[in-house]
Amino acid sequence: MTAPAAPANADTNQTKSMDDIMALCKRRGFIFQASEIYGGINGFWDYGPLGAQLKKNLRDAWWQDVVMKGAGGQLGPNGKPVSIVPVDSCLIQNPKVWEASGHVGGFNDPMVDCRETKARYRADHLMCMGKKGDKQGQIYAFIEHDDASFDAALKKLSKYVKQELSKDDVDVCAFTGLSAEEIAITVGPGTKEVGTLTAPRAFNLMFKTYVGATASEDDIAYLRPETAQGIFINFKNVVDSTRVALPFGIAQTGKAFRNEVTPRNFTFRSREFEQMEIEFFCHPSETKAWYTFWRDWRMAWWQSIGLKGDNLVLREHDKDELAHYAKEGAGTSDIEYRFPFTAPGFGELEGIADRTDFDLRQHAQHSGAKLEYFDTTRGELAPNGQPKGERYLPHVIEPSAGLDRGVLAILCESYTKDDSRPSPEIMRFHPRIAPIKAAVFPLVNKDGMPEMAAKLTSELRQRFGHLGFIETDAKQSIGKRYARMDEAGCPFCFTIDGDSLTDQTVTVRDRDTGGQERIAMDKVSGFLAEKLGV
Ligand code: ATP
Repeated sequence: MTAPAAPANADTNQTKSMDDIMALCKRRGFIFQASEIYGGINGFWDYGPLGAQLKKNLRDAWWQDVVMKGAGGQLGPNGKPVSIVPVDSCLIQNPKVWEASGHVGGFNDPMVDCRETKARYRADHLMCMGKKGDKQGQIYAFIEHDDASFDAALKKLSKYVKQELSKDDVDVCAFTGLSAEEIAITVGPGTKEVGTLTAPRAFNLMFKTYVGATASEDDIAYLRPETAQGIFINFKNVVDSTRVALPFGIAQTGKAFRNEVTPRNFTFRSREFEQMEIEFFCHPSETKAWYTFWRDWRMAWWQSIGLKGDNLVLREHDKDELAHYAKEGAGTSDIEYRFPFTAPGFGELEGIADRTDFDLRQHAQHSGAKLEYFDTTRGELAPNGQPKGERYLPHVIEPSAGLDRGVLAILCESYTKDDSRPSPEIMRFHPRIAPIKAAVFPLVNKDGMPEMAAKLTSELRQRFGHLGFIETDAKQSIGKRYARMDEAGCPFCFTIDGDSLTDQTVTVRDRDTGGQERIAMDKVSGFLAEKLGV
C-alpha cells in the first residue's frame, strides 16, 4: 500500500482508539456532533467549552507567531525580519472570484456511487486490486487506503477468481486511471455482487446560496471553499493602504465550506471547517528560498506546539502530484500527521505550495484590475545611481493549514491511557495550547481553605485569564478532582491544605508525572508564568 510503514517500536498512534478519543471529546465537552438533538448533520461539528478554548488557543498561537512575530520573529532568507499583515475577508464574495480562481469550473471531486450498498466514495480515495498479469477485462476489488480493506479485498478477489491469491499475485492501482469498461466489472467494498460501482462523476464541492430576495439564477453566490482567494483579491488594497513592501505576506484565519463527498474521520474531513492561510508575495527569483524557509519553519512550528516524534512528517510532493500551476514552481510539500485512523499512514495537516503568479494573474485577467507590483528596489540603475524600478506580478508561497485538523492532531497526540494511574485517561496538551491553564482546589471545603482558594483563583484569572480557564472546584475527593483535570488536560493543579493556612504554601501537582511539590503561595503566579512561557 502507499502509506509508509511506521518504524518499529516508534511512539505511534496505532494503539490509540479513535472511539476512546471521541468519547472523551464528547464527555468532557471538546467536540459535539452538530444538531445532535435532531439526529446530527453529516460533516458538521460543534465545539464545546473546552474545545472552543483549545481551538482558540491554537488559532491565537498561529496568529501571534505567524502574524505578530512575523514567522516566529526570525530573519527571512533575505536577512530581514519577515513582514506579515492580516486581513479578514467575507465568506461570500462576487461569484466571479470563484470563476477566476478556477473553483466554479474545476473544484470537482470525482465521485463514485455503489448501487448495492448506496455508499459514496471519492474516486481518488479508492485503490483497485487486480490479478497480476491481467490486462483488460479483469476483476477489480476496490479498497480504501488501509490494511484492513486490503486484506478484505484480497479475500474477495480470491473467491471470485476461485484461486487463493496472496499479496504478490495482485496489482494495486489508482481507481482514477481506469477506463469505463474496466469500471463496469467491479467489486466494491462491502458488496455481494460485482459491477455495482458507477463510473466517476464530477461533483462540485462549493456550497451555493442566493444573495437578495429574488433567488434567481443571477443571484447565485458561493460560500468560500478556502480563505486564500479573499487574500488575493485584496492584494492591491493592502499594498495601497499600508507601507508593506515586497517580500511580505498576508494572512487570515476563518471558515471555509466544502460539500465533501465523503465527510468522515471525526472532524478530519468536515463540510464546514476553519483554515489558517498565509500568502507570501515575493519576486519570482526568490521563490525557492522563501519556499524552503516557510516549509521548514511551518514544520518546526507544529513541533513547537506539541506534535513531535514520528507522528509528524514533512512530505515533498512528486512532480506528478502537483497542481497544474505548481509544476513550474519551487515545490509543494505537505506536513502530515499520523492520526489513529490513518495509521500507519498519514493525513494532511498543512500544505506548503509555490503557487507562482497563478492567482494574481487570473484575477488580473478576469477583473481587469492591474495587480502588478512596482518594486522601487529593482531594475536598471538610473544616472543618479538609483534603481529605475521593476513592475511585475509577484509569485506566491502559500502555507495553508487546517485549524480543525490541527486541533484533531493535538487531541490525538495528547490522548494518553495509563491504567496504572487512578485517572487512566490523560490529555497531555502543551501548556501553551491547554484550554485550562491551572486549577485551584481547597483540599476540604471548610476551615478557611475555600476563601484562600477563591483569592488565588481570582489572582490567577486576572493575570492568565486571557490565555485560558483557571478552574476552581471544591466538590468530591481531591483524587477525583485531579482525575477530571487530567482528562481535561489541565497541566497544573494548586491545592490549598491545612498547612497553607499557617505557612502560606500550596502543593503543585504536575499532570504528566502526577508528582507534587510545595511552593510559596506568592510564587504561584511566577511559577505558572514560567511554565506557560508568558
Ligand atoms: P484533502 O486532500 O485532504 O482534501 P486539500 O489538499 O484539498 O485536502 P487544501 O485545499 O490544501 O486541502 O486546504 C488546506 C488545508 O485545509 C488542508 O491541509 C486541511 O488541513 C484543511 N482542510 C481541507 N479540507 C478540509 C476538510 N474537508 N475538513 C477539514 N479540514 C480541511
